[in-house]
Amino acid sequence: MTVDKHALRVKYRQERDKRLRPDGNDQYVPLTGRFASYAGDPYTPVTPREPKSDHVTVVFVGGGFAGLLTGARLKEAGISDVRIVEKGGDVGGTWYWNRYPGAQCDTASFVYMPLLEELGHMPSEKYAHAPEILEHCRNIAQHYGLYDNALLHTTVTDLSWDDEQNVWIVRTDRGDRFTARFAAMGVGPLHVPKLPGIPGIDLFRGHAFHTSRWDYAYTGGDPSGAPMDRLAGRRVAIIGTGATAVQCVPRLARACARLYVFQRTPSSVDARGNRPTDPEWFAAIATPGWQRRWLENFTAVQTGGADVDDLVMDGWTDIARRVRARIAVLPEDERTPARMLEVYEDSDFEKMAEIRARVDAIVADAETAGSLKAWYRQLCKRPCFHDEYLQSFNLPGVRLVDTGGKGVERVTETGVVAAGREYPVDCVIYASGFEVGTGFTRRAGFEVRGRGGVRLSEYWAGGMRTLHGTHVHGFPNAFIVQPGQGANLLSNIPHNLTESGQTIAMIVRRALEGGFTRVEVGEQAEDAWMELLLSGPGSPLGGPDCTPGYYNNEGQDLGPRGWLNVGYPYGASAYFAYLDHWRTAGGFAGLDFTK
Ligand code: NDP
Repeated sequence: MTVDKHALRVKYRQERDKRLRPDGNDQYVPLTGRFASYAGDPYTPVTPREPKSDHVTVVFVGGGFAGLLTGARLKEAGISDVRIVEKGGDVGGTWYWNRYPGAQCDTASFVYMPLLEELGHMPSEKYAHAPEILEHCRNIAQHYGLYDNALLHTTVTDLSWDDEQNVWIVRTDRGDRFTARFAAMGVGPLHVPKLPGIPGIDLFRGHAFHTSRWDYAYTGGDPSGAPMDRLAGRRVAIIGTGATAVQCVPRLARACARLYVFQRTPSSVDARGNRPTDPEWFAAIATPGWQRRWLENFTAVQTGGADVDDLVMDGWTDIARRVRARIAVLPEDERTPARMLEVYEDSDFEKMAEIRARVDAIVADAETAGSLKAWYRQLCKRPCFHDEYLQSFNLPGVRLVDTGGKGVERVTETGVVAAGREYPVDCVIYASGFEVGTGFTRRAGFEVRGRGGVRLSEYWAGGMRTLHGTHVHGFPNAFIVQPGQGANLLSNIPHNLTESGQTIAMIVRRALEGGFTRVEVGEQAEDAWMELLLSGPGSPLGGPDCTPGYYNNEGQDLGPRGWLNVGYPYGASAYFAYLDHWRTAGGFAGLDFTK
């Protein structure tokens, strides 16, 4: 395939420029007004309980994958009183809240679902659906006894370090005030739903909800795939075409009389290739240590660092395999950083051309197909994979409303307006995503006060600073569990969390065994880590040349706030190897253990 690279670069730039807007992240608003009730929990009734005023060894804020993985490793290390505090009515985090039809993991289950080997679970499909993942989360909590001490339907309101007692004081919206020797936080990167800040949202007289609070009472059906029979005869608008919409549009398309899909920027949608797991095949691969081998293999292949067999073989690893194949045929003396970037761009052009050709091959109407084509580099926006999304636009009741990069203008009492035309509907579903570019404490929903009452939001006002993305100077006995400033491996977040959980368990155990009351990263170690990170190339995702979206802070320079998105300069596999050495070498260099 011959590619006119200049023409493509110009086209990409035009597509970006027409979407850039001065309000950036401020174009979005939280779920207030008619949506305020969704700030609560539509899935599980709240059970009354007495406030807690006791003491635990470890409190973990958040009951998603981060809390479950860290909790599991702490339990394995013999720490029995671990308390998960979770705002939802059960564990599961993103999989507790996101029950929209068609939800499934986008990274292969064998590397995405944590602790498979420990629980002896065989994922039923290469890409498991949401109910199975949520059930697996519950099974992890059961297996490791993490429910015993958990506080569900409980939101932490404040976390303060008591410098005299060497404990964290935890306050919650249920009146709790208890202490913890260690506090860990896995509050999730994408959990505060947002809406487009367009006029009229509250005027709409029909039904409306956000995808992360799916209203099955209105639509009928259930997360397991029962048909949404109450949508028969209804006209539905879905706003947004990101990874969530790509998964739920096919189900909606089958259920409603008329579905309008309002698109501002098309997603790149590559083949999915989901299939049931063959138990015989699984028995053959699931030998001791299998999941760690798969995790390491996926990371090595996907981040392009190693010439190893690709066990997972999917759209994520395909990106890296292509680049590596092109580099492999470069003469030795041409393997310069600049030439490699060129090769990467060539590979990307080729891949995106294939993804656009896939649209033509699937979508019957030429104008609709044209609008569904993505004109940007693949990692500018979250790559999507689906075998029914594009096909949905061939159904007679489905209509793509392409807004030419401008977005929906407003909502009226009776419908949705785009390009000056009103589309009357009975229901509006917002697939408009989650807060990303906002500050950590805003998204966490509480302030963390460290030594001397210093607030984490103040300490990070000039940019996030940590050692390994986990330890913060001035905040003893605290751990932050997330991928940034560590491996920053965004194609498989659970691998990051797996390693963090293991590391935290080892540190806590060392502190308890040694009788240390405080563990804190020294200022110099934190500075040195930041210096190392900032010497690297930055985030592989997004970038100023990309169409706006949350990968590039809606096209606006994040300044030092973008430090959250930097990772170990030598890549994710190298980071995990480094971390393993750091935690097993004996000293946890850079952390000060004091009595
Ligand atoms: P996104 O933020 O990715 O998508 C929001 C969508 O809303 C975009 O298409 C955006 O358009 C659109 N939008 C915003 N404002 C308007 C407007 N005024 N008019 C029309 N459209 C508008 O949210 P998602 O919930 O789809 O996904 C968030 C992330 O969650 C994913 O990127 C992924 O990381 C994760 N996820 C993972 C899944 C998995 O692993 N299985 C499944 C689903 C989500 P534009 O692009 O122009 O901004």
